[in-house]
Amino acid sequence: MAAVLKSHPDLPPKMTVFIKYKHHENDVWTRWDLLVKSYRKNCLCFDCELLNMEERKKNCPIANQVFDLCVKEHLVLPVWECPKFKEKV
Ligand code: SF4
Repeated sequence: MAAVLKSHPDLPPKMTVFIKYKHHENDVWTRWDLLVKSYRKNCLCFDCELLNMEERKKNCPIANQVFDLCVKEHLVLPVWECPKFKEKV
């Protein structure tokens, strides 16, 4: 992964590092610490019984909307809060 390192101008040097890399053929920016942690570990959906990545028609409609926006705009959006979360048992 080729990265261009750049510090945010409003923060002290080396406090936050942003990188640009290719994700699904698109150049995207992210915070280095978020990339190495993996968004899946921080997203409620991956611990929610309503998430069904195998069958989109049976998947949570909110998760489908988040996915559609991610595809359209080349984003990664972990869900941190959700009123409909159901913990997997
Ligand atoms: S209910 Fe909330 S946490 Fe569960 S899959 Fe849908 S969006 Fe994610």
